[in-house]
Amino acid sequence: MKTDHIREAMVQWRHDIHAHPELGFDEHRTSTKIAELLKQFGLEVHSGVGGTGVVGVLQRGNGTRAIGMRADMDALPIHEKNAFAHKSTRDGVMHACGHDGHTTMLLGAAKHLAEKGDFSGRAVFIFQPAEEHGKGGPAMIGDGLFERFPVDEVYGMHNMPGMQVGTFALRTGAMMASEALFEIEIEGQGGHAAMPHKGVDAITVGAEVVSALQTIVSRKLNPGQNGVVSVTEFITDGQRNVLPGRAMLKGDARALNREVNSLIEKQMRQIVEGVCLAHSVKATVSYHTVFEVTINAPEPARKAAGCAAIVAGSDRVDTDCPPMMGSEDFAHMALARPSCFVFAGNGVTDSHGKPLHSADYDFNDDLLVPGSSFWVQLVEQELKRDGA
Ligand SMILES: [Zn+2]
Ligand SMILES: [Zn+2]
Repeated sequence: MKTDHIREAMVQWRHDIHAHPELGFDEHRTSTKIAELLKQFGLEVHSGVGGTGVVGVLQRGNGTRAIGMRADMDALPIHEKNAFAHKSTRDGVMHACGHDGHTTMLLGAAKHLAEKGDFSGRAVFIFQPAEEHGKGGPAMIGDGLFERFPVDEVYGMHNMPGMQVGTFALRTGAMMASEALFEIEIEGQGGHAAMPHKGVDAITVGAEVVSALQTIVSRKLNPGQNGVVSVTEFITDGQRNVLPGRAMLKGDARALNREVNSLIEKQMRQIVEGVCLAHSVKATVSYHTVFEVTINAPEPARKAAGCAAIVAGSDRVDTDCPPMMGSEDFAHMALARPSCFVFAGNGVTDSHGKPLHSADYDFNDDLLVPGSSFWVQLVEQELKRDGA
């Protein structure tokens, strides 16, 4: 593959970044390292885009087309359980989502393209902060990313445990779900556990609300569509002999299109209002969509599938994979420009098959070459020289 000759360098960068993980918007060491390497390769480098974001620009020939490629840099507040030499050196912070690998694959592509790239046009390498919050993508866009570095298309990639390394998967349309965080606050009247009739128990009302919320997906949503409503926290101010006057329900809702997300919100508000009215308690609902749906546009998806097939072989590319109910803040870039988001297999064995966000996960170094070769292929194919 195109980047075989820089595998060793990539492994070194990846292990160094893995050992020094940084949380969203705090990626100072990581972004400094990225900027230094890009400068070394000879790229034009812009730091501080949307906080700790870095953009590298590589112009070749007089081609006027430009494509953007995005990697994320942030780690998670998880304490790493792995024992290998490159394990995290920071307590409670870990690259458990493989963003160390995403960053490295894009750096590898930049190095290869700067040295030997056969293309004409502008390749824009986007290293974004704070993907896990869903705030880094919007921060870079808000900082003028696509005005300062105009691109015709933008692409993103995420490793996927459970998929063989060297395989790719994508689809046209919704690739990853939106995520909304909700909070429902129920206000009754606290009292004595032995005299419930003198108070207004918030916990029984809350329990009814939790049960009723289960009917949104099962009874209100068209069975052909996808949605998830999960209540994940139920907090009250009660004690063993104290009737709670206040209950707070928190949770998370996912959808594969905006209509379903709106339906979930509307039904949730109606259920809370109705149940609380029946018990004469007050309630407030906040529903905040933090990640939009990640939607792959048909043309970029077709181009990405073609590149993946050249790199991996067409029998190792699934061009109609099922969408994932997880969320990605690449969605915000996908709303701004025609785009495609691709999954790349992280492997199925040992730590490489462990789920994303688990304390014993690790990015697979065997994905560095195929992943970076995909980026190289994409640039050389989409920014073809005249007559090439
Ligand atoms: Zn993640
Ligand atoms: Zn991730």
